[in-house]
Amino acid sequence: MAYDKSIAAFEEAYKVIPGGVDSPVRAFSGVEGTPPFIERGEGAYLFDIDGNRYIDYVQSWGPLIFGHTDADIEASVIDSVKKGLSFGAPTTVETELAEEIVSMFDSIDKVRFVSSGTEAVMSAIRLARGATGRDNILKFTGCYHGHSDSLLVQAGSGLATFGTPSSPGVPADLTKHTLLATYNDIESVEKCFADSPEGIACVIIEPIAGNMGLVPADETFLQQLRALCDAHDTLLIFDEVMSGFRASLKGAQGITTVKPDMVTLGKVIGAGMPVGAFGARAEIMAQLSPEGPVYQAGTLSGNPVAMAAGLTSLRKLKANPAIYVELGNRAKKLVEGLKRAADSVNVPMVTDVRGSMFGFFFSDKPVRNFADVMENDQKLFAKFHKGMLDRGIYLACSSFETGFISTAITDEMIDETVKAAYETLKEIK
Ligand code: PLP
Repeated sequence: MAYDKSIAAFEEAYKVIPGGVDSPVRAFSGVEGTPPFIERGEGAYLFDIDGNRYIDYVQSWGPLIFGHTDADIEASVIDSVKKGLSFGAPTTVETELAEEIVSMFDSIDKVRFVSSGTEAVMSAIRLARGATGRDNILKFTGCYHGHSDSLLVQAGSGLATFGTPSSPGVPADLTKHTLLATYNDIESVEKCFADSPEGIACVIIEPIAGNMGLVPADETFLQQLRALCDAHDTLLIFDEVMSGFRASLKGAQGITTVKPDMVTLGKVIGAGMPVGAFGARAEIMAQLSPEGPVYQAGTLSGNPVAMAAGLTSLRKLKANPAIYVELGNRAKKLVEGLKRAADSVNVPMVTDVRGSMFGFFFSDKPVRNFADVMENDQKLFAKFHKGMLDRGIYLACSSFETGFISTAITDEMIDETVKAAYETLKEIK
């Protein structure tokens, strides 16, 4: 494939945008080659400015469960745009979207909308601290919760790609309140509680981690986590920005029996528009301004165009929950094919699927936490990524990310992808 126009566009972008991108992982730093500059999407496909076509398994990092240019979502956005872009005043569409979310999650009585997942988590953490009167929070190594200061500690996603455990510009005074535990290891959580006599406001977890590759939490681990939080009056936050409406209609909460105290959402609830949300039981949400003393606000929060896109998307999903069975089957078909391709050249691979989320590691042992993830063969992944891209398969450009199936992806496209994997692995092995 030729990438000449993208290479030139990247050079131009580099002159005026740091690294040429507005979010670090997009720069292809962890893989080979130059990022294709995208001209448009259609259904399951992305088209770049060189005229190359790709089957898209990234889907804007998760939001596009119906693929690109879904007719219903597009119509609702256009209709909303015609009425005005933003009012900074209440609209009924916010309430409608809130009602859809509340009706789907037992753990949410009330929800507030913001403009990104980062904002959702940042606000939820402030609320948890305000509601409990405690400063300490606990997160898990390899989980990514957006780029707010307190949470940029041993995060996965782009930070893992760049090998940055934290970031300059984040005061140590802030992160000293962020305790770290090991994913799927309850003893490491117990130790944090034991070492924090002043208490912990909240434990935040991706119940299905998607930012160190796909690494789901064990059911027993989540149950033990719930029990520990209850024993210490600590709030349990499920960060479902990625897994919400992705892993199942109810996200991870449709799979585990464990109920969190608070939930953060994003991605699918905006269908490709900038949206985040955080919700909890009524008494916790009552602490939020203007009802309570915990301040949080946003000029574009609950933006009507974004709300319209999200509302259409969620109603479509709710009207046809069987979509998740189909998506799950395609995801399984894909990873089974990738595994067969790896086996055919004796390359070790482990895979996992949760609903429309899929992951694979070039690794010969089960991957249960970030240390296991770090043992996967990243050099081989970089070569694999390039070979797949050259064959029209657009995978996430880091082995610390998760793949997504959209309803626009067909069985034939999965077959094409698996064929590309066989060819690529034969070539690079
Ligand atoms: N939380 C999780 C679990 C995420 O996956 C992400 C983004 O990937 C975020 C929070 C941050 O969301 P955003 O990138 O919209 O700020």
